[in-house]
Amino acid sequence: MDLSNQELHEVSRLYRQHISPDLARLMKFGGPGSLEVGARDCRVEDHLGRSYLDLAGGYGVFSLGHAHPEVVEAVQEQLARLPLSSRVLLNPQQAYLARDLAALAPGRLQFSFFCNSGAEAVEGALKLARLATGRTGLVACHNSYHGKTLGALSVTGREKYRQPFEPLIPEVRFVDFGDVDQLDQALDESVAAFVVEPVLGEGGIHVAPDGYLQKAQQFCKERSVLLIADEVQCGLGRTGRMFAVEHWGVQPDLLVLAKALGGGVVPAGAILGTPEVWSALKGRPLIHTSTFGGNPLACVAGRKTLEILVRDQLAAKAAHNGSWLMSELDKMRQEFPHLIAQVRGLGLMIGVECVAEQQAGALISELVKQRVLAVYTLNQPKVIRLEPPLTISEADLNAAVEAWRAALVAL
Ligand code: PMP
Repeated sequence: MDLSNQELHEVSRLYRQHISPDLARLMKFGGPGSLEVGARDCRVEDHLGRSYLDLAGGYGVFSLGHAHPEVVEAVQEQLARLPLSSRVLLNPQQAYLARDLAALAPGRLQFSFFCNSGAEAVEGALKLARLATGRTGLVACHNSYHGKTLGALSVTGREKYRQPFEPLIPEVRFVDFGDVDQLDQALDESVAAFVVEPVLGEGGIHVAPDGYLQKAQQFCKERSVLLIADEVQCGLGRTGRMFAVEHWGVQPDLLVLAKALGGGVVPAGAILGTPEVWSALKGRPLIHTSTFGGNPLACVAGRKTLEILVRDQLAAKAAHNGSWLMSELDKMRQEFPHLIAQVRGLGLMIGVECVAEQQAGALISELVKQRVLAVYTLNQPKVIRLEPPLTISEADLNAAVEAWRAALVAL
């Protein structure tokens, strides 16, 4: 056994012994089963020097690709100067990122709270909604995904993840995503907030039907319920707009971000809110805090990310490339109707729904043979998602299409 394979063997053993034997098995069969040793732009390299085209894009993390040099440079500079904040003196990087987010965010989202992950952002938004409304009810969608901490899990619409941990937080009602009548029924005066992903990510890439989010906003306004947009996966240019709610002109009271916010370099999350929501923190600014939230490394990564997204017009690029890619995939659906049931999405957030669940697994394996990384959505294993870096080149888009075709032919 050569040295690199010896390491693979050892890492697999350590996964089995110290991380999780089941996860080790899943990772072995759900992808190339090799060691990740480097990544740049749209490509990930394994321990044997094989290069994979990354169409999974970390489910939205790698919107700028892997290790974007400008983000890395900004983070390295900050790393040498002041990596973590004292939290006693003012943190300038946090203030600048909050300003930059407010300048880009839709509606009157003016304030930011920084945290480290998507679930943490959702947790904070749920707490803020309770604080701002004095109500405790929550409405969320079946088949949604908001994270796996207890609060975020309580509004996640997937039994498999919820059931083993019940009872979760009380007074949560679930409605079908896109159903206006159910929402009308559910949003009463006990409800603090309706939390919704404008495009269901883990639920299998479902785009909100036209009119749905506008209606949700109207009901929320009429009934003093807060609208929380979860843009952890669909935000920051991915769908063809900087924020997905902009497709429908909707202005949420709270909006949560994570994944792409750290530029694919540093973990980062944020809750954005209006002055009305933030007024709930009056006299108690420390009622919700996070030691590492808003740390200087995450904030410089966030600022550089926003700068690059705007400067390189990556949202517009995602819209253009996304519709091309979707139309190419749809041609394949017509050619392989026994394998592909539907192609849907918005911008570079695309779902390919297979006819049967096993086909999705087999297709992912075939794609790996073509040196392409792809993953299914957590709530809908029948659906393979494509969320490549928004920076993807024309050559890589063509390579992606060719690999898909080859994989379908091989199946
Ligand atoms: N919300 C959405 C829409 C997500 O897609 C995810 C993660 N897939 C989360 C929240 C949770 O984020 P994290 O894994 O960073 O906690």
